[in-house]
Amino acid sequence: MLPSTTRAPRAWPVRAFLSQAMLLRSLYTLLAAIALAATTTPASANDASPTRKSLRDTKTDAPRRDPGSELSTWCAGIAAAHPRGQIPDCLSLRLTEGQGRSVKGVPLWSTDVTPSSASAPPLRVLVLGGIHGDEEASVTLVIDWIARARRETLARPVHWRMAPLVNPDGYFRSPRTRVNANGVDLNRNFQTRQWDTEAHKYWIKTTRRDPRRFPGPSALSEPESRWVHQQIHSFQPQLIVAVHAPYGVLDFDGPPPPPTRLGNLMLDQVGIYPGSLGNYGGTVLGVPVVTIELKHSSRMPATDAQAMWTDLQRWIDNHLLTASGTTRFGATRTLSPTTN
Ligand SMILES: [Zn+2]
Repeated sequence: MLPSTTRAPRAWPVRAFLSQAMLLRSLYTLLAAIALAATTTPASANDASPTRKSLRDTKTDAPRRDPGSELSTWCAGIAAAHPRGQIPDCLSLRLTEGQGRSVKGVPLWSTDVTPSSASAPPLRVLVLGGIHGDEEASVTLVIDWIARARRETLARPVHWRMAPLVNPDGYFRSPRTRVNANGVDLNRNFQTRQWDTEAHKYWIKTTRRDPRRFPGPSALSEPESRWVHQQIHSFQPQLIVAVHAPYGVLDFDGPPPPPTRLGNLMLDQVGIYPGSLGNYGGTVLGVPVVTIELKHSSRMPATDAQAMWTDLQRWIDNHLLTASGTTRFGATRTLSPTTN
């Protein structure tokens, strides 16, 4: 064996060359990765999803309140968003748990309000709030409507199914987030036509990779959007009402003449997005979807909630029910994707 002093002069240049080559290779890999990220295709967009970043960000956020799996803690979390108590008693709404869970396992509470008596099968209406977790007024509105529907003697043959908070993980986070715990915008995650080719392209080119509008790795990748999808196909609603904020308009997708106003909101059809619920319900299934965009994210005056409730029912009377109270639209049709 040669003494180390005789090996060193021959070994070091090789090591130096190797480490230089490795450095160059690392630099090349880095540059290639940057170039790929700049020209990424929808398929590779998943790798660039904001999910990891969003999750990392949330680790530093203390939860606003752990909503747990109990209705009492969930209701306490909702009430905490209304320090002045301007919200109906959540525990009296008769919310039920069902199968739906968020990414973090929070139940997607919902309730059915059925007409006191009906000679004909009632019109089925699905009302969804809190699809975006930072639009708490949408949760407040749906809770207000549940309480209102329970108080009123429902003369109309309408079966309401209402879920005030579809995205509890975004809602109970501090600060609240539009996206769910996986960093996905649930209202871009529905299985609309050409989702596979359009959703990521739209996210990259039009939103410039806005992390608040990431459509998810695939359509219906999220438990919350899968639950809504399952509700649509089991309950078979003839009208879907989705509540959002804060753009202050009324949007509509689907066949019958849209409502021109609900309370202080005027109709303004803003177009469709890949993966949105309005696009899925209105275009793919052919069921009317009223999208309410409230004027404020956090403030929901009860008088406005009352006016919207009254106007919605008037529109239902005029367009979805006949004079004798039977369902005019889609009564016997089974919801399935339209072929046109
Ligand atoms: Zn929204």
